[in-house]
Amino acid sequence: MAGGHLDIDLDAIVANWRALDALSAPEVETGVTIKADAYGLGAGPVAEALAEAGAGRFFIAQAEEGEAIREAVGPGPLVYVYSGHMEGDTEAIGDLGLIPVLNSIEQMTRHFERLPRHPFAIQLDTGMNRLGMEPAEWLAVRDLVIQQRPHFVMSHLACADEPEHPMNARQLALFRELTEGLSVPRSLAATGGILLGPEYHFDITRPGIGLYGGLPFEDARPVVVLSLPVIQTRSLEPGETVGYANTWEAEVPTRLATVSAGYADGLMRALSNRAMLFADGVPCPLVGRVSMDLITVDITHLDRDPETLEILCPEQSIDDLAAAADTIGYEILTALGNRYTRRYRRSEK
Ligand SMILES: *Cc1c(COP(=O)(O)O)cnc(C)c1O
Repeated sequence: MAGGHLDIDLDAIVANWRALDALSAPEVETGVTIKADAYGLGAGPVAEALAEAGAGRFFIAQAEEGEAIREAVGPGPLVYVYSGHMEGDTEAIGDLGLIPVLNSIEQMTRHFERLPRHPFAIQLDTGMNRLGMEPAEWLAVRDLVIQQRPHFVMSHLACADEPEHPMNARQLALFRELTEGLSVPRSLAATGGILLGPEYHFDITRPGIGLYGGLPFEDARPVVVLSLPVIQTRSLEPGETVGYANTWEAEVPTRLATVSAGYADGLMRALSNRAMLFADGVPCPLVGRVSMDLITVDITHLDRDPETLEILCPEQSIDDLAAAADTIGYEILTALGNRYTRRYRRSEK
């Protein structure tokens, strides 16, 4: 296969999980958000490594994602579904022993009717207006629902990556108001919430991006290296242009490498004329438009033509690349297509 290689350091993921866990008190349990195929890195191997390291609670977005996780971690660990119990999910929830995070009265009714005595958790909306029960709705059913012993009650912060944002304190206060005095575990923090401090931690945290090496967890160990094969090199005279729409023109004699990856592989077209690739740590500018399967790179200053170039590496993090495309590290990771060969490394073994 001529495509690129995505190297994923499972020990770095485990180290990031431990580092995030160390930020909260020992009695706070640090879960693992592993939705969207572990943010594109491969749910099976990532779940297996973290379960082996002691993680006991895994969070996915949709019940369909449950099978891969269950296969990887076996019957023991708890697997929660953020989207709750949707029409069509009953069989997967029952057969795979998934635990839906119920988001509405409708979901509660469905869950209690279809799978009586099957465990569940609850999500409350504290202002993000995306998922979860509205406060009034919750207060109407709260006492009845608590008798059914939910695993926990959770909510999600909208602005946790901006520590000074007043929304954080507002959501915290409302979450407290809606849950204070109930004998049920509580969960509010994802990666950003863990970094906001102990009053946001409650009983269970649910980090995702920090495990995978992304901001806002600045101390995260980098997890991925993406190296791309050079298909062809050529020399350009001054005045020659590169790629669709001639957006880059050589001003001096130029050596150009054409690399096998493009926007169909998650390297967004917005990176055109903006990103860097690296040859053993030496930066080489991406020039011209990113096409569907190809990008072109100025390698004039290298001593020799490289066989591969790296676009994610110690010199360029997922957030550096995200900045070049005006997006976030989350989108860079989850966009990485399935044409790359994923190679799992254990840096500490
Ligand atoms: C995605 C998600 C998380 C994890 O968020 P990160 O910012 O990646 O740590 C936690 N909780 C919910 C409800 C989510 O949707």
